Amino acid sequence: MTIQEKFTDILERKNAAAIRSGRQPEDVTLLAVTKTHGADEINQAIAAGATDIGENRVQELVEKYDKVSPVRWHLIGHLQTNKVKNIIDKVVMIHSVDSMKLAREINKRAEAAGLVMDILIEINSAMEETKSGIAAGDLKELVTEIVSECAAIRVRGLMCIPPLAITPEDARPYFREARELFEEMKTWDLPEERFMPDVLSMGMSGDFEVAIEEGSTIVRVGSSIFGPRNYR
Ligand SMILES: *Cc1c(COP(=O)(O)O)cnc(C)c1O
Repeated sequence: MTIQEKFTDILERKNAAAIRSGRQPEDVTLLAVTKTHGADEINQAIAAGATDIGENRVQELVEKYDKVSPVRWHLIGHLQTNKVKNIIDKVVMIHSVDSMKLAREINKRAEAAGLVMDILIEINSAMEETKSGIAAGDLKELVTEIVSECAAIRVRGLMCIPPLAITPEDARPYFREARELFEEMKTWDLPEERFMPDVLSMGMSGDFEVAIEEGSTIVRVGSSIFGPRNYR
């Protein structure tokens, strides 16, 4: 299958899963994850209808940015504070905020660029030591601090990555836990211009349909669209 065909296939499965779980196709965004793939391949996905592209490394995003047709870019991987300035005017959303230090830097750079950056807080549901993300129990404190200090940030919700190498059904409890946390967030009384929790980013190639059934609003799909990654 070509990239166009694979993209269309995933889009249809994404839409079917949304309808199956009582939502509209447009309520769930398909984010095409393009790490290790070149601008040509990304442009093929855009030609097939991709509106949102996810990269997990700043350098790759910056290298491809000018070679790719206009599209909404998302930063989904771990972000070092010294790299924030390189992407602040290029992305519409940062999915991987997990510290006040990073939030402060994003705020500073967004303010200087005259914009408000939409962010998600990355939840580490399995509490794996090697992974980024914060514990569920630390979420409210971090969000409250960001909202009170950072005028150039709007907190839009959560990103969750379940442990690797498990089956889609094994991932379901992690998705459900993230969904519960997300629903709890919606009850927090924080100013709307800085806090609008309406995005739940979860689900990848192997498990995006289960994630949608559990309430995902953005699925991040890479290898099912672009094939295996070519790490150099
Ligand atoms: C690579 C990556 C994805 C996509 O993974 P696939 O299994 O290839 O679909 C999703 N989210 C993040 C954070 C990633 O780094």
